[in-house]
Amino acid sequence: MEKIRIGISSCLIGNPVRYDGGHKLARFLLDTLDQYIDYLPICPEAECGMGIPREAMRLEGKFDALRLITRLSREDKTDIMIRWAINRVAQLERENLCGFIFKSDSPSCGMERVKVYDDKDVSARTGIGLFARIFMEYFPGLPVEEESRLCDATLRENFVERILTIKR
Ligand code: SF4
Repeated sequence: MEKIRIGISSCLIGNPVRYDGGHKLARFLLDTLDQYIDYLPICPEAECGMGIPREAMRLEGKFDALRLITRLSREDKTDIMIRWAINRVAQLERENLCGFIFKSDSPSCGMERVKVYDDKDVSARTGIGLFARIFMEYFPGLPVEEESRLCDATLRENFVERILTIKR
């Protein structure tokens, strides 16, 4: 059977691309979906030039104007990330992706409920990672999920059904 091509946050398949040089291997994804899926790994923070390792970052500000800020040196990485993401999603047109699995809680990859800090350093789970938002706006019909939700077998089956529908 021809495998289905989908994008995935690179750290989830064990690539050491996180800010601390580690990964977030979601072994169950490989164990359960590997037979159907050909993964295209993408790490927005590493690929946009922030390097590995790098300083950890977080989202700050208002929902419609989120900023990506490094935690200690307080550098604003928003524009670098947005510029890169707009180019990258346009390139992804050629990849014929049938979906994307995002790393939950990440200020770049989180699909929903990412922590956003206000000017009093109080967080609320109201954000979307900058790359995830641009991807979802560019490909509004593509099935997307976060790895944290795909632990649930029913949600996983539903996701596979949706990506198969795109492929047909
Ligand atoms: S969550 Fe996204 S940006 Fe962060 S390490 Fe994983 S792939 Fe890279």
